[in-house]
Amino acid sequence: MRHLVLLGGGYGNMRILHRLLPNSLPEDVHVTLVDRVPYHCLKTEYYALAAGTISDHHIRVPFPEHPRLTYLFGEVVHIDLDKQSVQLKDGSNISYDDLVIGLGCEDKYHGVPGADMFTHSIQSIEKARAAYEALNNLPPGAVVGIVGAGLSGVELASELAESRPDLHIKLFDRGERILPMFPKRLSDYVESWFAEHDIEIVRCSNVTKVEEHTLYNHDQPIHCDVIVWTAGIQPNRVVRELPVEKDKQGRIILTKQHHIPEYENVYVVGDCASLPHSPSAQLAEAQAEQIVQVLQKRWNGEEPPSEFPPIKLKGVLGSLGKKHGFGLVADRPITGRVPRLLKSGVLWMYKYHNGY
Ligand SMILES: Cc1cc2nc3c(=O)[nH]c(=O)nc-3n(C[C@H](O)[C@H](O)[C@H](O)COP(=O)(O)OP(=O)(O)OC[C@H]3O[C@@H](n4cnc5c(N)ncnc54)[C@H](O)[C@@H]3O)c2cc1C
Repeated sequence: MRHLVLLGGGYGNMRILHRLLPNSLPEDVHVTLVDRVPYHCLKTEYYALAAGTISDHHIRVPFPEHPRLTYLFGEVVHIDLDKQSVQLKDGSNISYDDLVIGLGCEDKYHGVPGADMFTHSIQSIEKARAAYEALNNLPPGAVVGIVGAGLSGVELASELAESRPDLHIKLFDRGERILPMFPKRLSDYVESWFAEHDIEIVRCSNVTKVEEHTLYNHDQPIHCDVIVWTAGIQPNRVVRELPVEKDKQGRIILTKQHHIPEYENVYVVGDCASLPHSPSAQLAEAQAEQIVQVLQKRWNGEEPPSEFPPIKLKGVLGSLGKKHGFGLVADRPITGRVPRLLKSGVLWMYKYHNGY
């Protein structure tokens, strides 16, 4: 049997599984999926888990079942590309013929002292749960600092404002306006929603240090009862430690067939891969579609496509609490209830198609 090992059961590898199962997996291929969590987690909803507006169960999707699919639930600590072996925290090793690395990303702290120790995170389910506990156990009137006003910082701030209107939320960002990657019209819309909901935007901030319950903006201490970091991501540590070529963000540079140049049997999917778009679940899934084609061709003894058409993304949708939202669809900015409904619809469809 040929052994395909999938590291990480996130958006990228889930798409690979769903394209191969039940009928497109060759008879002589066995798949092992390794994840530290025994279900697929809907990471795009972690902001709502942390804010306390959805249940933990609501964002878990069972992994599929198949006679030639095995699960190993444990922590990947090292990949030896030359020995074709993956090491788990419990000391066990898994060997592979083909490997797809889809371990996702972690927070990037940009060297800010104390940020890793004294801020909460929404980059993993365990951390989002810890953020939920910290945020929801706060007494009335407590101060929450959110560092970073990109999509996840904005979604967390707005969801928390609806969940706990008694809290004072401060959103720190380096820029003059929030959501700098979107057209100004969208930033203005979100900023006016924030004003209506008493979310304070601290513009042009520079977080220089974090201590317990204190964030330093331009070296000025600001008391915060809980601080959440949403100011940058980087690939998983296991991937950062691989001795292969990476881009400036630390993502692995791949061939057009999505494998590591020196290792034709090692593919990288999603947030760990260097791709011409910002990381997203949508991108991980689109890339996974191409990886499946390469795997199937190679298993058939055929040449994979020499290149693929560029990946086209459908757009971005962001939520502002449960009733409002914003987005860019077909390059057109949209605001209000329609993008929020679309976002709920996308989530519903995702769960439906993944057998939930
Ligand atoms: C709050 C928030 C909102 C977002 N909103 C959107 C959105 O609206 N649209 C969008 O397209 N994208 C969104 N994203 C980004 C999206 O979630 C990621 O780009 C996507 O999850 C990447 O998919 P992936 O397959 O690379 O990894 P992930 O989905 O992150 O999966 C990685 C998997 O690896 C496992 N894992 C990690 N390390 C280990 C280890 N050492 N050992 C074992 N298992 C491990 C994890 O448990 C996880 O199951 C959002 C992200 C956040 C945080």
